[in-house]
Amino acid sequence: MTRTLADLRSGGRLLVISPHLDDAVLSCEALLKFSRDAHVLTVFGGDAPADAPLAEWDRQCGFPAGVNVMEARRAEDSRALTGLGAVPLWGNELQEGYRTDAANLERITSLITATIDSIAPTHFLFPLGLKHHDHLLVAAACGIAARERALTTSFVYAERPYAQAKEFAVVRKRIRELSTGGAGFSPDRLPRGERRGDRSALRCYPSQLRGLRMSAFRIGIFRERYWRISWPNK
Ligand SMILES: [Zn+2]
Repeated sequence: MTRTLADLRSGGRLLVISPHLDDAVLSCEALLKFSRDAHVLTVFGGDAPADAPLAEWDRQCGFPAGVNVMEARRAEDSRALTGLGAVPLWGNELQEGYRTDAANLERITSLITATIDSIAPTHFLFPLGLKHHDHLLVAAACGIAARERALTTSFVYAERPYAQAKEFAVVRKRIRELSTGGAGFSPDRLPRGERRGDRSALRCYPSQLRGLRMSAFRIGIFRERYWRISWPNK
């Protein structure tokens, strides 16, 4: 029987991979609320080096110099996920803007496989890999981890706000790229009446909404989008 996201109403365990401390909730608010047993691993959850100057993005988000930005962002994430009844898990990787070395795909993949092993999800959901280098990296690591752990049917989400109507072409492009790698895609949807969040969790990220220059209302206009992704058996 084909697994679908709607199965999460009656049971099952959802593991969502989030590149940054906001992507899973901004993109999957309704699904996280719908699922009874949801866990969210944020890969780039590590603190900026203590002596590093304030990153440009953090400045745009309104953080003053000298505060522990990631601590404040983890608090936003914790509040949002607790409100949705989901469990936050945070990795220690440094996001773009904090790193002095290149990101390590192998280490990120290991973090994800270790989390799959400890959470044992029935439903594994990861980002399409839009807009940002960190997102693409996480999407690549998730694809490797899913195949390593024989999760031959997994799920992907389109990242909001990057997957908005005018940027629909970038979604199609990513699906084409992944399909070329042998993956099969089919759209999946939550049951009618469950497809929209009430935006209360989106409002838990005031710093990021400020950086994005977008209101929770506006982000919520665009529907959440999911696909089943499967790889042929080796
Ligand atoms: Zn992000």
